[in-house]
Amino acid sequence: MELRGQLDLDRLQAVERKKIEGDLRTMEQEQALQEKLAEARREEVEREQTKHDVEEAMYYKGLLDANQAKKQNATAGPGVVCNRCGAESPAGSRFCKTCGERIV
Ligand SMILES: [Zn+2]
Repeated sequence: MELRGQLDLDRLQAVERKKIEGDLRTMEQEQALQEKLAEARREEVEREQTKHDVEEAMYYKGLLDANQAKKQNATAGPGVVCNRCGAESPAGSRFCKTCGERIV
């Protein structure tokens, strides 16, 4: 009787141990999964950040280009229209860029 009880106890402990080991494995898997998720989220955030940086850079470059274009237009002023062909040439041109007519 006593031996049988001991055997049962051993088996019970073995089952418990297996269950705990299983739980531990599950926990490890869970943890690994969480870490993977966290990493994926970090990468996502970095990607978003990079995308944002690029968009910001492009935005500022656009502003810069627009400013430069505005400045160029400002220095050039309104173009002059050729009397002969009607084409517009940059202000200050002495000759029409289209037909070569002298612009007075
Ligand atoms: Zn012309």
